[in-house]
Amino acid sequence: MVIVMQAGASQTEIDAVTARVKADGFSTRLVQGTERTIVCVLGDGRPVDQRKYDVMEGVEKTTRILKPFKLASRTMSTGDSTLQLNGTTVGADPIVIMAGPCSVESRTQLLETAHAVKEAGAQILRGGAFKPRTSPYSFQGLGEEGLQILAEAREETGLPVVTEVMASEQVPLVVKYADVLQIGARNMQNYELLRAVGRSGHPVLLKRGLMSTIEELLMSAEYILAEGNRQVLLCERGIRTFEKYTRNTTDINAIPVLKDLTHLPVIMDPSHGVGKWAYVAAVARAGVAAGADGLIVEVHTDPGKALSDGAQSLKPERFAALVAQVRDVAASIGRA
Ligand code: PEP
Ligand code: MN
Repeated sequence: MVIVMQAGASQTEIDAVTARVKADGFSTRLVQGTERTIVCVLGDGRPVDQRKYDVMEGVEKTTRILKPFKLASRTMSTGDSTLQLNGTTVGADPIVIMAGPCSVESRTQLLETAHAVKEAGAQILRGGAFKPRTSPYSFQGLGEEGLQILAEAREETGLPVVTEVMASEQVPLVVKYADVLQIGARNMQNYELLRAVGRSGHPVLLKRGLMSTIEELLMSAEYILAEGNRQVLLCERGIRTFEKYTRNTTDINAIPVLKDLTHLPVIMDPSHGVGKWAYVAAVARAGVAAGADGLIVEVHTDPGKALSDGAQSLKPERFAALVAQVRDVAASIGRA
């Protein structure tokens, strides 16, 4: 249940409401909007007697949250959540573009790509240092050295960095170097890892699992939010279907559905979604048209030599064309 306080409710009234909730054996989370405060009542499914809160001083109304995700639900917020990253706002009207290689392969490769994507209009740099590969014999990433290279690229370009963390033990290390912790599709339901990134308080980009429903994605976000970390971005990156021609099937539906169900920003990854570079720009345009708050795109200066995901990586000049196209789409829906 959420208790929506009246605009201008006093601190004493808010305190009285939270004290009663605690006395009833539930816990609370406060959402401070610009106009009003919302008190979220979190419990174990036991019914709450709504009427006794309805009549308290300063309370405007109480609403039950019927969805299993509570903190991620729109009911729990006074508007769209936004995330500030070194001057870039994610989740506001202008769409945000993240780009970079699938993997950090070398200092030269990453620095060259970082400058190229910045030049083309990206606002955030991506690059994997810990790589979840299907084969244990494939390139696994440069680990901490990769993180150091990413930090150097941030110094040089000013672009905040998003990079994957694959295990709870890696969280303190990755937090030292990254601005946003990426949870990969394969780890979307690694609940210990979700709790650990939640406790870190660091911004998180949570990717949808290969075989996960929209509700499961939101329940995973709930794990992070339940640790008190509100800085969560959701990412639609394609799901497995019977279609074999493309690597995955981008679930365009998920974008407007997520925007309806949750206040969290929604990012789309057209690169993993389709898996072939020739279709990445078209899928990216569709994502923005569908209401995505941003994109995350793989770019490589020499895709033929990439150590991972070369087939879906765009050369910098093709990425620049994509940026121009998606900015036009964004402008046409009032999101320049
Ligand atoms: C990636 O971003 O390179 C990646 C491995 O993504 P996903 O977890 O969505 O497969
Ligand atoms: Mn990749």
